[in-house]
Amino acid sequence: MEILTSKTEVREKLKKNPLQAAHLLRLSGYGSIKYICACGETHDANGKDISCKGSAKPFKALLKCTNNFMTMIKIEGFFKKKAVSEYGFKASVMD
Ligand SMILES: [Zn+2]
Repeated sequence: MEILTSKTEVREKLKKNPLQAAHLLRLSGYGSIKYICACGETHDANGKDISCKGSAKPFKALLKCTNNFMTMIKIEGFFKKKAVSEYGFKASVMD
């Protein structure tokens, strides 16, 4: 996973792959989807402490964890979903 450290880097990423509304991607029907977070821990994308801040095409979600890190994951797989972490950054980078 790529870790972004500046607002400019985050903006560049989002320019290439624009964010859409979080509700356009439904993850809730898939049970537990573990992903490696930018904070270094592994979380469940459907966990209560994880909030989805946006989605992106084709099947990506920007997730925020309670450690205040944002991670863009790509969902792969058909019956069994798995998450590949593309990039992440500390949420405060965007302040
Ligand atoms: Zn985390």
